[in-house]
Amino acid sequence: MKALVYNGPRDVSVSEVPDARIERPNDVLVKITSTNICGSDLHMYEGRTDFDKGRIFGHENLGEVIEVGGGVDKIEVGDMVSVPFNVSCGHCRNCEHGLTNYCLAANEPDMAGGAYGFADMGGWAGGQAEYLRIPWGDFQCLRLPDDAKEKQNDYTMLSDILPTGWHAVEMSGLVPGETIVIYGGGPVGLMAALSASVKGAAKVMVVDRHPDRLKLAEQIGAIPIDDSKGSPVDQIMEQTGGRGADRGAECVGYQAHDPQGNEDNALTLNNLVASVKFTGGIGTVGVFVPQDPGAPDELAQQGKARFDFGSFWFKGQQMGCGQAPVKRYNRHLRNLIAENKIAPSWIVSHNLTLDQAPEAYQHFDARDDGWTKVVLNPA
Ligand code: NAD
Ligand code: ZN
Repeated sequence: MKALVYNGPRDVSVSEVPDARIERPNDVLVKITSTNICGSDLHMYEGRTDFDKGRIFGHENLGEVIEVGGGVDKIEVGDMVSVPFNVSCGHCRNCEHGLTNYCLAANEPDMAGGAYGFADMGGWAGGQAEYLRIPWGDFQCLRLPDDAKEKQNDYTMLSDILPTGWHAVEMSGLVPGETIVIYGGGPVGLMAALSASVKGAAKVMVVDRHPDRLKLAEQIGAIPIDDSKGSPVDQIMEQTGGRGADRGAECVGYQAHDPQGNEDNALTLNNLVASVKFTGGIGTVGVFVPQDPGAPDELAQQGKARFDFGSFWFKGQQMGCGQAPVKRYNRHLRNLIAENKIAPSWIVSHNLTLDQAPEAYQHFDARDDGWTKVVLNPA
């Protein structure tokens, strides 16, 4: 089959690889019809992780079930399914508590949490390919309604970024009527903005510097904060009568940089602590893995953050972080799409073939104007 494989930093190609196939009785085999490029793919793409050459990318997968193992009794051939990016077994100690983001069976014995097409997440093949093997298929596959094909660009957000944005807001502790600031207007930040609106936020502010992304935030009623035009913290204070936002979400991660070139300003966690009120809450979903070896900040090069814990402590704030447990939210979010309450496809900028993926990675990695969310359609 054809798949998008890693050859080295910023070098990917569509290559012929052995077909994905049923290996265990509880496996499900899916013909991929949509698989998205994610900001998380860039950690591997840019060569900042231990991603082995020849591995297949892709953790935002949706498709049609074409074969099921003998132990599968719920999912059937012909079902259209969304596949959470977390690989999870459903019966380990963590999965039993709903922590499918830290499944103990999907990774090495001293690790927790698996994912398709990721470094350090269990070595599972990704779905930027013609076919994908889903282990523990009954537990993992989320069946989609009859309109799955027409609304594929909406449902495709269920495997990662919509539940991840939702999780960021959930961890911030937002309740209806509160204000929230979201750092990062990429796909994840935009999904957090949508989630905050659905959850009843009185005011949603999105910080970024790319006009196209800020415009998408504005389209769903969020207030765009352009940090190339001045301090984002000052702008948030102005928006909130000097009190700070009630809640905050971090949707940038390792790659944060300051348009004015001030490295002290670049760590969005510190900007969040400064932008959120005393006793407020913060949800952090941005991933902190090592930056480029050339990055000026030595700690950041190791994937560590110069976090201002003193201010965080003094303000009595709370913070949640980590991978999103997609299964906790994807059923409800699917229903919101099915009933036309939300349409997350508003951020899709491109539908492309698998063969066009290498070019798409280049544009998305460069944050080229208009390349917000790329959906690959292998079939
Ligand atoms: P993205 O790179 O497309 O978006 C990040 C945005 O942040 C960009 O638009 C960029 O301009 C902006 N930005 C950079 N520096 C900034 C700063 N100092 N202040 C404000 N904005 C700044 O990526 P994405 O796909 O939206 O993903 C965002 C992060 O979420 C990544 O780190 C990704 O790995 C992570 N992620 C986490 C999970 C999870 O489960 N926790 C799931 C998916 C993605
Ligand atoms: Zn993703």
